[in-house]
Amino acid sequence: MQMTSCADALVTDSAAAAAGWGCGFSCNTGVLNITPDGRQHLPILVHAKQNGRATGVVTTTRVTHATPAGFCANSPHRDLEDDIARQQIERGLDVIMGGGARHFPDTVLDRRDGHEVVRTADALFEKVGSPRLIGLFSRDHIPYVLDRTGDIPSLGEMAIAAIRSLESAPGGFVLQVEGGRVDHAAHDNDAPSLVREQIEFDRALGDVLDWMDGRDDTLLVVTTDHGNANPGLTFYGKRGEQGLRRLLKAERSFEWIFARISQGRKDGDLSRVAAQAVEAATGVALDQEGLNLFVASLESRRVMPFRQANTPTSVLGSLLATVYGVAFTSPNHTSDMVELTTLGPGSERFAPLMRVPEVWTAVTQAMGFAPPQPLEGMDRVIGLKRIEGD
Ligand SMILES: [Zn+2]
Repeated sequence: MQMTSCADALVTDSAAAAAGWGCGFSCNTGVLNITPDGRQHLPILVHAKQNGRATGVVTTTRVTHATPAGFCANSPHRDLEDDIARQQIERGLDVIMGGGARHFPDTVLDRRDGHEVVRTADALFEKVGSPRLIGLFSRDHIPYVLDRTGDIPSLGEMAIAAIRSLESAPGGFVLQVEGGRVDHAAHDNDAPSLVREQIEFDRALGDVLDWMDGRDDTLLVVTTDHGNANPGLTFYGKRGEQGLRRLLKAERSFEWIFARISQGRKDGDLSRVAAQAVEAATGVALDQEGLNLFVASLESRRVMPFRQANTPTSVLGSLLATVYGVAFTSPNHTSDMVELTTLGPGSERFAPLMRVPEVWTAVTQAMGFAPPQPLEGMDRVIGLKRIEGD
């Protein structure tokens, strides 16, 4: 198990957690690889490159989002994603794959060094094996599995393409692969999307395990950076299974539902528009009482005793919990310990219970890295403002 608290909070955000893995020090909420004293620390993928490894990040979020950024960038604020994109290119990651094309204008991409750039699944498959590859498959995050249309690769396809690019690097490689939208679905209390995104992650993991089959030279670390919203099964007996069967019938995400509502409410009756959007996406017809609560939340009125749980997505998640039997605590991360699983050489370095920065220690020792050498300018101390979690 892994304890996920960060330097300034029991409940971490993804930046601080990823930075713990990224540099081996606890950082403050929202901060990437800069400790509370303002000192900058070399991120693990740059460190890996100094030690002769090829490197890559793969995610279903924007590639500039907090988790991949924690592996390769230094920033006083995770939202500085244009700057994070610039660092990803300038620091010479070999593979960058996911969403977030909006942060990579030509002026940034032109500074790449020998990378192929692809923007569709078909183009990706054509370039498999290219040693340096940038895949930007969406302007923003990659759409949820339930909403995905068009020519976008799955997480497993991206992960395997990344491995095919990196596997012949003479010094080996370090690759970070994230099923990042699991977290977003949990923030939304969107149980159907959460399950679909987790299944997509599980399939990607299966693809990676197939690649590892018969090898004895690769350490795999599987974990998450924090709990989120604590979804729990809450129905007894047969009702529990019936609820999950209903959940698997959902065809669209909450994100799709809320896009429909914000479009439709401009010139339609909010109550009718909301009811139709929920039913079209989930097949669930809300009863009048439930619909009234949902509409009240859409009008920013309080309907839940726990103030944090009054986001319209959380209210919808709570209404659908009545059908699915999957209930959430809030739209926020939680402080729970999380699973940490490893396979391959170096696994013995991982203790049964670890703090996030200790994972950095175990990985860098397993890889036999020399101590990190700061990049030019990294001796500059950075002033930090306090950031609230997200
Ligand atoms: Zn999150």
